[in-house]
Amino acid sequence: MSGSPAVVMRLLASAYSVAEKAGSIVRKVLHSGELGIVEKTGANDLQTLADRLAQQSICASLSRRFPKITIIGEEELPAEDPREDLVEYGHSEEILQKTCPAEYSGLKEEEIVVWVDPLDGTKEYTEASRCVRHPAEAQISHKGPYISHSAALWLLDNVTVLIGIACGGKAIAGVINQPFYNYQLGPGAELGRTMWGMPGLGAFGFQLQEVPGDRRIITTTRSHSNKVVTDCVDAMEPHEVLRVGGAGNKIIHLVEGRASAYVFASPGCKKWDTCAPEAILHAVGGKLTDIHGNTYRYDANVKHMNSAGVLAALRNHEYYASRVPQSVLQALKSD
Ligand code: AMP
Ligand code: MG
Ligand code: MG
Repeated sequence: MSGSPAVVMRLLASAYSVAEKAGSIVRKVLHSGELGIVEKTGANDLQTLADRLAQQSICASLSRRFPKITIIGEEELPAEDPREDLVEYGHSEEILQKTCPAEYSGLKEEEIVVWVDPLDGTKEYTEASRCVRHPAEAQISHKGPYISHSAALWLLDNVTVLIGIACGGKAIAGVINQPFYNYQLGPGAELGRTMWGMPGLGAFGFQLQEVPGDRRIITTTRSHSNKVVTDCVDAMEPHEVLRVGGAGNKIIHLVEGRASAYVFASPGCKKWDTCAPEAILHAVGGKLTDIHGNTYRYDANVKHMNSAGVLAALRNHEYYASRVPQSVLQALKSD
């Protein structure tokens, strides 16, 4: 390889380490027991200290290195320099060693938009926190969760950090950190994993799998449902429905062969929820669109809300699109 790595590869390599740092912040806040919960538009739209600190960390770390990129984060925060200990300067050497797909090798910082969801699945994060023992009751460790046994613990895996990279309106790369991955292993276990992908290059950090046979396993929201959402899921004639939290988590279900389609016939998901997941899904041959089968754009000036819902699948996207009922299509207008 001649010369220095392409800007987008340097950005992606940094985003990998920045997502890891954000994941460690998300763990730390959970273990502190002081979540600092704020209701944004209502009880089903929450923000915690972890959302705030993780976003500050991600935005400051990326903008110091790449001052000319546009970064759009979910949380509205005062513009101030964060604590120095929140800033991450590392990068993934593995990503830097990859060859950039030719079409992106000449991209300039000014052409790049980064969509940041510092904590996807906040609702589930707050629910899971109620069954985690805190340092006052358990020995402090930077690794292990202070976990007591509870039915709500699985919600920890619904939580992800999402950093999506877009250019020309398209999601061209994405990083997903899952901070509590391996929580089942108990105290002392190394927690968290980071997945990343780029169409034209591939996806890494997980084992790609498909749902065996022709089973239609539909994953959808567990906390933002309504009649249109359930009508659309029912129309897929599912063998099984998995109601789990988080857009990132649902895409992980698709690429790891635990679900065949992500069906969400409702507004509510935003561009920061879908940019990174879409890039990773596309990198392995899947597809993410609105419920009409139209693609979303990720330019800096687009509306944040994915008003026409989400329909995503690793395989057979057309089949699921063909089953969306007329009533649902009429309820959700395309942009
Ligand atoms: P869910 O599948 O319900 O976990 O939603 C995936 C992402 O979209 C999460 O970031 C949610 O916060 C967001 N989302 C979906 N529906 C809504 C809604 N009605 N209000 C606020 N956020 C929503
Ligand atoms: Mg989200
Ligand atoms: Mg969020």
